[in-house]
Amino acid sequence: MKKIAILTSGGDAPGMNNAVRSIVKTALAKGMEPYLVYEGYYGLHSGNIKLATEVNVDQYIAKGGTFIYSARFPEFKNPKIRLEAKKQLDNLGIEALVVIGGDGSYYGAQLLHEIGVKTMGLPGTIDNDITSSEFTIGFDTALNSIVENVDRIRDTMESHNRAAVVEVMGHGSGDLALFAGLATGAEVVVTSENIKSPKEIASIVKKQIKEMGKRSVIIIVSELIYDNLDKLSKTIEEFSGVVTRGMSLSHLQRGGVPTAMERVNSSLMGIKAVEYLIKGESGLAIGILNGKFTGTPILEALALPREDRHKFANIVNDLNQS
Ligand code: ADP
Repeated sequence: MKKIAILTSGGDAPGMNNAVRSIVKTALAKGMEPYLVYEGYYGLHSGNIKLATEVNVDQYIAKGGTFIYSARFPEFKNPKIRLEAKKQLDNLGIEALVVIGGDGSYYGAQLLHEIGVKTMGLPGTIDNDITSSEFTIGFDTALNSIVENVDRIRDTMESHNRAAVVEVMGHGSGDLALFAGLATGAEVVVTSENIKSPKEIASIVKKQIKEMGKRSVIIIVSELIYDNLDKLSKTIEEFSGVVTRGMSLSHLQRGGVPTAMERVNSSLMGIKAVEYLIKGESGLAIGILNGKFTGTPILEALALPREDRHKFANIVNDLNQS
């Protein structure tokens, strides 16, 4: 195999640039010609493809987002559009494509694999919701951003004897909330697997402040559980008697300089993808499983059940409320 292409798709995630860099450099070292596809499947379909040697990929090593850009392109679900996209690769003699993205992007990669493009998927999503990898590209950086912001919010709440509801990303997977909860000592963590009513939260807040004498309470909630954060905060305030503020970290948690672990893991996953392609493999999702970098057939990867986090959620809540 001589020519391979890379694209990033779906939500951007810090570490994507490190993965792209590592794929490009590994491919060049193995005598291949790497190409960059700009704007995900949209760019693949329109032929926005450039030789990677035209770009200095090292300059993005400490930059979040994705320098080859991303796009949402629902038209890619249409088989005719996928054949047209494949034609763009065929015209350039490109045999393989590495797709860095979430589960939607993985479906696209699987369908390309089925029509003869050699594909590899890398788990690019801050939500940590790709079960074929214990950690996804972007998760560690987003987690660190959340922790940094919650620490700041804690300073203020502590000074004023208040509670704060902090909404973070990750609906289907509550890992950002749970891991951030453990790292910040948030007294309450609510995820889709572990929902609490506003009154239940209020009674914990009341106990923590009025009985246990804490100066502040942090409540971390995953997105899309409560439809109105102001309303939730008001209800908590009303039933606990503790002044409560609500805020969403929103896109503050998505971008930013990739952490060291992010850079390391993303780079190693990129190398692994090229190694599998050289071996002639296709249709694999690269990830870290039991501490090892490995490939799982994409369809199998998409069907793997999520790890049950109930016990973990209880541990976090028990530890932080004591
Ligand atoms: P993510 O990859 O982060 O889950 P999306 O679900 O938005 O993000 O998917 C990213 C892109 O992948 C979509 O815009 C579309 O181009 C492609 N895609 C998603 N689902 C499918 C599918 N079922 N079949 C083919 N392509 C898909």
